[in-house]
Order: sequence, then C-alpha cells, then structure tokens
Amino acid sequence: MKDLTAAERLPRTELGRLQLGRLRRSVASAAERIPLHRERLRAAGLTARDLRSLDDLRRLPFTTKADFRDAYPYGLLAVPLDDVVRVHASSGTTGKPTVVAYTRRDLQTWSDVMARTLMMGGVGRSDVVQNAYGYGLFTGGLGFHYGAERVGAAVIPISGGFTERQLMALQDLGSTVLCSTPSYALYLAEALEEAGIAAKDLRLRVGFFGAEPWTEGMRAALEERLDLMALNIYGLSEVIGPGVSVECPERRGMHVAEDHFLPEVVDPATLEPVADGVPGELVFTTLTKEALPLIRYRTRDITTLDRTPCACGRTLARIGRITGRTDDMLIIRGVNVYPSQIEHALTQVAGVEPHYLLVVRRDGALDALEVRVEATASVAAAGPDAMRGAAALVKRRIHETIGLTADVTVVPPKAIERSAGKAKRVEDLRPRGGAPS
Ligand code: ADP
Ligand code: ZN
Repeated sequence: MKDLTAAERLPRTELGRLQLGRLRRSVASAAERIPLHRERLRAAGLTARDLRSLDDLRRLPFTTKADFRDAYPYGLLAVPLDDVVRVHASSGTTGKPTVVAYTRRDLQTWSDVMARTLMMGGVGRSDVVQNAYGYGLFTGGLGFHYGAERVGAAVIPISGGFTERQLMALQDLGSTVLCSTPSYALYLAEALEEAGIAAKDLRLRVGFFGAEPWTEGMRAALEERLDLMALNIYGLSEVIGPGVSVECPERRGMHVAEDHFLPEVVDPATLEPVADGVPGELVFTTLTKEALPLIRYRTRDITTLDRTPCACGRTLARIGRITGRTDDMLIIRGVNVYPSQIEHALTQVAGVEPHYLLVVRRDGALDALEVRVEATASVAAAGPDAMRGAAALVKRRIHETIGLTADVTVVPPKAIERSAGKAKRVEDLRPRGGAPS
C-alpha cells in the first residue's frame, strides 16, 4: 500500500512530469486506435508530439456525452473486446446510459484508486464496510467492493435497498464504514430512529457519500444522526466510476487521483479554462486507462479547482463540491436554479427534512416552482398549522437564497418517494422547448 500513498504526495513539478509523459502516451494511443480521436486530432492539426507542456492540453479537442451516444456501444474503445474483462453503464440519469469497459489493468487501476479513496478515511483491515451502493451495471457497488477488498477490510456486499436488512447489518455485523448515496444514508438514519436504535450504539465511524449532489447542511445532518464522519466522494462511469476524487478528513474539497485523471475547469460557454477557484465545467483527460481513454471529457458537472497544498500533506489538487450539472440547471423565470441551492435553503429551516422534490410547471406564460418537502416527525405530529408555519419559513428562506417565490408544500414524513440509489429531485412539467435542453 505504500506506493499508493507515495503518489498522493509527489511534489507538483514531479507530478507534472509524470502527467505529461502519461498524457503523451495516452493521446498517441487514442489517436492510433480510436477513429473519433484520430479524426479530431487530425482536424486540429495536432499529434501527441505537440504536447510539450501540460498547458498544451487546452489545444486538444473535447469529447462529450453525445460522442458516447454516437459511438454506442463500443466505438470509443481502444482495445478489442478480447481484452475487455468488464462492462458497466452509467446510471442514465440524463438519458440513454453510457457503456464503459475495462481491461484487466483498468480494473487494477480502479481497485488502487478506490483503495486510496477508502484509506483517506483511514479504512483498513480492521474495518467492516457496509457497501450500500447498488451492485450491477452501476459502477458504485463493484467499485467500492474491490477497493475495500484491496485494503483488506471485510466487505458486506449488501447493495442498495432492503432497509430492514441494512439495519440488521449495522447492528449485528458491526459495520464501521457506510458507503451509499447521501439521500439513502439519510433514509437509513430515519429508519434507525424509528426502530429506536441510537447511532452512538453502533460502530459506524466514517461514511463515503456521493453519486449525487448534496450540501454542507446534509453533511451536518448525516454526521449528527449517524454519528460518523461524512466524506464526499465523486466519480463518473466514463472516467472510471467512484475513485476519481474524494475528501480527506480536512474536508475542504475532494482530492483528485491526478496521477490517473487530469482535471481542468472550463467556462461552459467559451470552453476556455478558468482560473483556479472560479466555478466552471469539470473536464477530465485520463492518463492510464487502456480500454476507454478519454481526451478532455466534458463532465457537465460544475465545480472549482484548487491546487494549493492541503493540510493533510497530499499534493493532489482538490475540486469543490459539485454544485450541479449543467443539464440539471433549471431556468425558472429567467433565474438559474440548481437543486442543491434549494437543498441548502431547506437544511437551514428547522421543522423540515431534506427529502424534497422540485416540480416546475408553466402557468400561462410564467414558470411556477413548487417545492415539496417533508416535515420532521415532530412538526407533522403538531398538526397542519405547524406544517403551514414550516412552509412559510421555507418559502422565505428560498426567496432569500435564490430570489424566487416558490409554492412550498410541507408534506408528511415518507410522502416523497425514496430511492436506494440516486434521488430524483426534479420534475419538470413544462412543455418541451420551454425547458432548458
Ligand atoms: P449518470 O450521469 O447517468 O448519473 P454516473 O452513474 O456515472 O452516470 O454518475 C456520475 C455523475 O453523478 C457525475 O457526473 C455527477 O453528476 C454525479 N455525482 C457523482 N458523485 C457526486 C458527488 N459527490 N456530488 C455531486 N454529484 C455527484
Ligand atoms: Zn487533504
């Protein structure tokens, strides 16, 4: 495991040299083996030899989700299927799922970056990892599974859902680590409370929560109610799955496994790189992937990049919380709204839980935003007046946060559909063409 951590502490000039060498090899191989990249590089008049410094990265053409769709299912692979040992697909949150593939060495890389991820939370041989990410085509389940095995922890491959069984495992099997989406973790916290099980009587120590946007307010709620340290983890199937980046215990941004995945943040309109600290669209170029090398893949996720040293001693750059996806952004009466802004407002109001759904309609010429949010058990027990009171507070808070007046409905606990995986936060009922595409 020593070599794993050494890569996280390389001086940045040394890291840069390593990245440049890998970048040249990866681009050369993509150009040689994948028609799409060969043609785009030719059109740009570039070859891998033109990459003289990391700054030259910005001269390379972008790859998008649409390229995956056009090349569906295997058109972006750099190896024959004979060399592929695993196939996964993205969750398809925003359309047709994207198919991704791995060689044996890619699986090794994935296990390594996931082992590193878990080690950021101090996970090792003595831990019991309750892996409540979905097993299957979704990369979450198997990604965590292999990483946890690699660090020598005991893995419970429980997958998502079956809440009763999750509670049983938490109590009887001594889980010290919980891996799940933050929305499902909140659901588990509630289920524990309902069953009269105190979190402090469990052995949970750290949680790895990701796969969907969440907020600091949600973190505070999860840490308190599950009595653990909640770490944010970000990844996407196209790049590898989970293992792309994760928070260290400093919890000031997620360290990117930069020796494998080269991050950039660009202005989504001009596609020019922005300065560190300025929000924009996250873009990744893979440095070591065999089956599916990516050149400047536009993730559509909005975040910031920070290359300053971290107090934990790691030199790897950090990305900030993902505030939304470019395609998640709602334009309501001309105002740009991300679901995470609403979540932020909700976590600041006592009396409601951050289980919510945003419903957008068109009333005549105007967009109307309805926010449905669940009451806490005590507010629900106090009756309709208490629920209306909470709704008024939420309405005011949302207005202060985004400057829009929303219709707020506070609904009873459990009224909003639960998901064992990624939560569905938006229902856009506006006629097509009216909604941002
Ligand atoms: P899909 O795009 O179909 O959801 P994936 O299952 O590969 O496909 O999920 C990757 C996406 O999930 C990311 O692009 C990002 O939008 C979201 N995501 C993953 N982790 C986080 C996180 N920690 N915070 C916010 N969003 C995240
Ligand atoms: Zn750190």
